[in-house]
Amino acid sequence: MVKVEINHNRCGGAGECIDICPNGVWVWEKIKVKTLGMFNSEREMPVPKYQEKCTGCMKCYDICPTKCIKITK
Ligand code: SF4
Ligand code: SF4
Repeated sequence: MVKVEINHNRCGGAGECIDICPNGVWVWEKIKVKTLGMFNSEREMPVPKYQEKCTGCMKCYDICPTKCIKITK
């Protein structure tokens, strides 16, 4: 099974991964993220919730501007 991980502290939160994933792996969820390394705040962020649907196509990885997605096959 393919494993999909994201580093939310580096994610810009624009949702490019959600838009491009052909298999509905990603959903929006409220996540605690570090703001300026000082505070934890809650933000809607992409979460790879349905990992069992991932085919490892790498589209999310390729489009991610901050390279905060890790795909392990
Ligand atoms: S590798 Fe492909 S199928 Fe898997 S989460 Fe990324 S875009 Fe979706
Ligand atoms: S593409 Fe990368 S930076 Fe953009 S929302 Fe997805 S994980 Fe975050």
